[in-house]
Amino acid sequence: MDIPKIADVVIVGGGVMGASTAYHLALKGCKKVVLLERDPLFGQEATGKCAGGIRYQFATEINIRLSLLSLPMLDRFEEELGQAIDLRRCGYLFLLTREEDVQAFHSSLALQHRLGVMTEWLNGDEVRSRLPLMRLEDVLGAPWNPQDGLVDPNSIVQGYIAGARRLGAACLTDVEVKNITLKNGRIHGVKTTLGEMETPIVVNAAGPWGAQIGTMVGLDIPVVSIRRQIAVTTPIPQLPPHFPFVVDFAKNLYFHREGPGILTGMSNLSEPPGFNQDVDRDWELKHFDEAMARIPLLEDVGISSRWAGLYEVTPDSHPILGRAREVDGFYCINGFSGHGMMHGPICGLLLAEEILDGKAHTLDITSLSLTRFREGKLIQEYNVV
Ligand SMILES: Cc1cc2nc3c(=O)[nH]c(=O)nc-3n(C[C@H](O)[C@H](O)[C@H](O)COP(=O)(O)OP(=O)(O)OC[C@H]3O[C@@H](n4cnc5c(N)ncnc54)[C@H](O)[C@@H]3O)c2cc1C
Repeated sequence: MDIPKIADVVIVGGGVMGASTAYHLALKGCKKVVLLERDPLFGQEATGKCAGGIRYQFATEINIRLSLLSLPMLDRFEEELGQAIDLRRCGYLFLLTREEDVQAFHSSLALQHRLGVMTEWLNGDEVRSRLPLMRLEDVLGAPWNPQDGLVDPNSIVQGYIAGARRLGAACLTDVEVKNITLKNGRIHGVKTTLGEMETPIVVNAAGPWGAQIGTMVGLDIPVVSIRRQIAVTTPIPQLPPHFPFVVDFAKNLYFHREGPGILTGMSNLSEPPGFNQDVDRDWELKHFDEAMARIPLLEDVGISSRWAGLYEVTPDSHPILGRAREVDGFYCINGFSGHGMMHGPICGLLLAEEILDGKAHTLDITSLSLTRFREGKLIQEYNVV
């Protein structure tokens, strides 16, 4: 296979961020967009391994605003791109068992209401009556938003890739970017496993490998990759069809309906950074002890599939989005810290605006710039699972 010799923009990585960026660049009229993915298929890394959750419930204004723009794009996705994405508004419910979390979520709720996100508050008894299959004696309350839910992440990637190709973008698999060349301090081209390409602009959409791409241009991009794993159970006939996305916040444990069973994950906060994606069976045992304590029915079911993937985590759990001021022509869309799939649609559009119009204008993304780490302007997100 040959790769183009010249591009207007080269995007490194074909997960949701690269795919959305390619589509939105092409939609805005950018001619020679080239997306390079090293795997044989698009969207098989963090995006394909994610839990599929979409939510408005965040604790910072910028994350809530990203959801306010991104989730409606998912509503319009099939109409715009001709690709069904299995959107389900099952709602998200955060079970809170610690007084400090109740207080923190009450202030997030006030912020959400100010921005037009009408998350409701359920007291402990209301939560217990809604979820009779669960053991919830210790639950003090739970924010609940019926507009949150689930989508199929692979369909989003496929929809954007197909849409970008229809608009003339070259989206290629089995091509790894090995290096990036600079001339007079600005982007000049990329070196790949299939040869070199000239381009004035490179987009770093390499997900958990974003820091490695930064190193190629001498930039320290503070994204670490951390293993997170998931298991899906065999069918549970008693599970109600509209079982919500339930997060046991203090335990970093979550559940949602997946086909006839339950998908569940629990973040291991002691997991060291790295690229290991083997399932940790010891952790799975701990995870299922906690899961069965919440849903006793799980004692009688099996596991139908399990996998591990990588979160791409920044020090403040917010993405790095926009131009890197240090290297002319280098742009970042990295570090979504466990909740990026849902923000992929809007972040691809915002980055396309930043590249083609000089500045993102649908939303001010200055607070997400790479320089915030050097300037000490971190914006901590509390609502991380
Ligand atoms: C277990 C788990 C559960 C999650 N649950 C949710 C959830 O419920 N909701 C949500 O919104 N988010 C969730 N996330 C987070 C979400 O998956 C990520 O934030 C998002 O998918 C990141 O997309 P990406 O395109 O940046 O990364 P990726 O999908 O990893 O794509 C990056 C791509 O870059 C490619 N690449 C890397 N280096 C190179 C190179 N040198 N040359 C060419 N290609 C390269 C990789 O092969 C990869 O395909 C979850 C993540 C995990 C792991």
